[in-house]
Amino acid sequence: MKKNDFVTLTIEDIGVGGEGIGKAEGMTFFVKDAVVGDVIEARITKLKKNYGYARLMKIIKPSEKRKEAKCPVARQCGGCQIQEMDYKEQLKFKGRKVRNNLERIGGFESTLLDAVMEPICGMEEPFHYRNKAQYPIGTDRDGNPVAGFYAGRTHQIIPNTVCALGKEINTEVLNIVLGFMKEFHVTAYDEGTGTGLFRHVLIRSGFKTGEIMVCLIVNGTQIPHVETLTERLTKLPGMTSITMNINCENTNVIMGKEIRLLWGQEYITDYIGEIKYQISPLSFYQVNPVQTEVLYGLACEYAGLTGQETVWDLYCGIGTISLFLAQKAKQVYGVEIIPQAIEDARKNAEINGITNAEFYVGKAEEVLPDYYRKYEESNPGSRAHADVIVVDPPRKGCDETLLETMVNMEPDRIVYVSCDSATLARDLKYLCENGYELKKVRPADMFPMTVHVETVVLLSHKKPDGHINVKVEFGEGEGKVPLDNIAKRAEAYKPKERVTYKMIKEYIEAKYGFKVHTAYIAEVKRSLGLPMYDAPNAVEELKHPRKHPTVEKVEAIKDALKHFEVI
Ligand code: SAH
Repeated sequence: MKKNDFVTLTIEDIGVGGEGIGKAEGMTFFVKDAVVGDVIEARITKLKKNYGYARLMKIIKPSEKRKEAKCPVARQCGGCQIQEMDYKEQLKFKGRKVRNNLERIGGFESTLLDAVMEPICGMEEPFHYRNKAQYPIGTDRDGNPVAGFYAGRTHQIIPNTVCALGKEINTEVLNIVLGFMKEFHVTAYDEGTGTGLFRHVLIRSGFKTGEIMVCLIVNGTQIPHVETLTERLTKLPGMTSITMNINCENTNVIMGKEIRLLWGQEYITDYIGEIKYQISPLSFYQVNPVQTEVLYGLACEYAGLTGQETVWDLYCGIGTISLFLAQKAKQVYGVEIIPQAIEDARKNAEINGITNAEFYVGKAEEVLPDYYRKYEESNPGSRAHADVIVVDPPRKGCDETLLETMVNMEPDRIVYVSCDSATLARDLKYLCENGYELKKVRPADMFPMTVHVETVVLLSHKKPDGHINVKVEFGEGEGKVPLDNIAKRAEAYKPKERVTYKMIKEYIEAKYGFKVHTAYIAEVKRSLGLPMYDAPNAVEELKHPRKHPTVEKVEAIKDALKHFEVI
């Protein structure tokens, strides 16, 4: 087997990036755009010792789970990864991904997950859900202006003005802009030379208000014949804001700092639930407003507010969750690292007449511990308390200093909103080892056709449910409980300890004085035929060739497995 050879594969599994996984001659292959159940012919593009990558060349027998892509450039475009998978299957895949991470990384028992996991919230209409699109503008071989998307991991523009995830009106906006450029010989920006005028077109839509915003991102300060362009754009229903953004830097960053109003007003308005937002070209706003409402509705339900609570919303962005919760809480404090986002949050509170939300700029892992320490200093003997803490961190999850402070503040409930179930699982493990109990887990699909999944989790503080008084006399004789018996029964009922890789490593390091790699332990377990976790991140692991431990290490690992009664 060598590079460029053709292999026939039956796709049996799906990797974390949505790629199909199949086997041939003992080798595992990862194939982009292949769907579980497909029988395919693929060309090997990269070959390692026991795995490789291949390109889908022909579908010999399509899977029942395969759907024809709505978008003609679905395979080339880097935006969607799983458009060719039936939507129901996408939801199953995402639910499984969250569950597997909680089990593997979080160490949560399968029976507990059966009890706490709720079905994923999917979309009824999984297309045209995005309220924001940023199209790069370029020039094709014939010199015509084009708009489209960057091909996966490159800056090559795939012309496409009909994106199945965006609003239909985007096509009309782009056709007007491209037609105008052609007619008046307005140039497109060229990354290589740094010349040319039009860089990107940003389009935003208010789903509830129907308002449309167009922002033209240009490498210059003037657009020739701009009145003709704005006049044409204003004919579109809902047009509310036309601006230009000046970006003359040679950079990958799309937007420059300066905005100039060309027509209408500088912002559009939209609602999430009852809360109104003013969205300007530079402000952050969730891109799937329908599911955002679902997600925040869940967070609000899990927060269990009665109107009396003090709530912290950490990583609050423009205060979306804070303002949502403020309607039902006594007081909300939001913390966010980006100052402009906090400015927006305060403005949004004001335009909605919300007075019980306060916002702080700073790192959550600094603001909360500082608050906690200062509170202790000025109130000796008592501790800062919160009823509910909500966190919605970026992919890397929460800093441990923050988790520690959260635990010290002992909120009754913690609501964790996550966009990465691996770091979520890691953080939940910490919280559950430090006084919290997993109560509810619900994935939500904010980004259909992509591999991303959001999750909302409810944790509650472990407190005794109540007390009963029982009188027991220990010792020998009638009606008394012999102490020996208790010890024996306790021993018999002792739950079997779950043996983790960490325990094995610590045992070996303490006894033998050397460290062993997780992969070595896995290798020994595998060679002994012991049950292995069904690794959802096997894709990641397989990127590294399997390691072979030395005899000395194998013996130490076997000894540890014996010690913990695994063998
Ligand atoms: N809850 C918001 C935003 C969540 S996205 C919403 O739903 O709209 C995560 C946010 O965390 C981003 O706004 C990012 O700027 C912010 N952030 C990243 N690191 C942070 C940190 N260390 N402390 C506080 N905020 C941070």
